[in-house]
Amino acid sequence: MRQAAAPSSVEGALDGQFQRTWEFLAGIGRNGRTGGYRRFAWTAVDLELRAWFAEQASQRGMDYHCDRNGNQWAWWGAPATGALVTGSHLDSVPDGGVYDGPLGVVSGFLAVDLLRARGVEPGRPIAVTNFCDEEGARFGVACIGSQLLTGVLDPDRARGLRDVDGHTLAESMQRAGADPSTMGRDDEALSWIGDFVELHVEQGQRLVHLGAAVGVATAIWPHGRWRFRFEGEANHAGATRLVDRRDPMLPFASTVLAARALAEQAGAVATVGKVHVVPNGTNAIPSRVDAWLDSRAPDETTVADLVAAITTTAQRAASSADTTVEVTRESYSPVVDFDARLRNRIHEVLGGVPELPTGAGHDAGILSARVPTAMLFVRNPTGVSHSPAEYASAVDCVAGVRALAAVLEDLSCR
Ligand SMILES: [Zn+2]
Repeated sequence: MRQAAAPSSVEGALDGQFQRTWEFLAGIGRNGRTGGYRRFAWTAVDLELRAWFAEQASQRGMDYHCDRNGNQWAWWGAPATGALVTGSHLDSVPDGGVYDGPLGVVSGFLAVDLLRARGVEPGRPIAVTNFCDEEGARFGVACIGSQLLTGVLDPDRARGLRDVDGHTLAESMQRAGADPSTMGRDDEALSWIGDFVELHVEQGQRLVHLGAAVGVATAIWPHGRWRFRFEGEANHAGATRLVDRRDPMLPFASTVLAARALAEQAGAVATVGKVHVVPNGTNAIPSRVDAWLDSRAPDETTVADLVAAITTTAQRAASSADTTVEVTRESYSPVVDFDARLRNRIHEVLGGVPELPTGAGHDAGILSARVPTAMLFVRNPTGVSHSPAEYASAVDCVAGVRALAAVLEDLSCR
C-alpha cells in the first residue's frame, strides 16, 4: 500500500546510490591478477562482506541478526512469522564474477530504500538476507546456509566438511568468531519466510535474445556434485617404466572426456571443474586424483542415467590402468518448479516479463521445498557466469531494483 507520492529526487538518486554501493563492494575480495573474486566462506574476505551487510542494516535502522547457521538477516519491521524475504549470497566461486549473489543482496537493500522513499508501509515485515556459503567453493557442498536452515544438510556432516587445506567448517567458523555448535534445522527462522524472492544475475543469454532487462524464473534443473577418487601408486616420473605404473591420472583423463561425450548424447551438461592431485609434483606419478563432477539436465532421470554411465566408464578406465575409483555423491538438488502463485503474480506485476528456466542452483531452490519461492533474473550481456566476464549493465541493475521493489510492494500487502 502506498502512503505518499514518490519524491522524484529519490527516484533519480537510485542510479547514483546503486553505483556507490556497487563500487564499494567491488573492491572486496578481487584478485588483482585475474580480476576474479575469491570470496570464500568464513575467510577474512567473507568477514569483510558480512561486516558490510551488518553495516547496511545499521545505516537503514534495520534490525540485524545472524541465525544459527550463519545466515544474515536485516529486518524492516520486527521478525515475525510469514514475513516477505528477499536476498541472495555474498560468497563466490574461485575467480568468480561480482554479480552472482551480491546483486540480489544489494538490490534487496536498495528496493527497501525505494519503497521507504515512496512512503510505502508494507503489510508485513520485509527482510533482506545473505545466505551463507552458497557456492560451496571452500567446503565442497553448495548452499550450506539454506541447506542447514531447512534441515536438508546434517549439521554433524557440515561441521566435519574440510577445505583443501584440511580445515573443517567447524574450525573455520570458530576462527571467524562464529559458533558451529548450534548449526542445524531452524524451524523458527524458516517460519519467518512467508514468501522468498531472490533476484540474481542471469547465468545465460536468454534475456539478451528476448530483449528484456528482467525475467522471472520457471524452474531450476536438477543437479548434483560427485567426487571421483582415483587411487594408484606414487612413483618416480623418470625411473618407473610405463608398464609398471599405476597412474590414476589416466582414468581421470578418460573420465573427463567421457563425461563430455555422454552429456552431449543425453542433452545434459557435465563439468569437471575441480581437481586435487596428490602429491601434485611435476616429476611424480600421482598416488591419487580427486575430481569433482557437476552434472545437470532438464529432468532427474537424465541426470541419474548420465552419472551412472560416467561411473561405468570411470570404473573400466580405472581397472585397465590397475587403479581404483570410488564415486561419492556429495550433493544433489532435485528439480525445482517455482511457486506458481508467486510466479504468476510477479509476471503480472511486472507487466508480463519473460519467463525462463535455469541450469544454476540457488538458495531459492533449496528453500522452495519448504516455503513459496520465486526468482527474478537480470540480463547478462555476456551470458558468462562464474568468471570475471560475468556482467550486467548499471541500467539493467537499476531496472532490477525497481522490479524487485514493485514485487515486494505488491507481495507485502498480500
Ligand atoms: Zn548465485
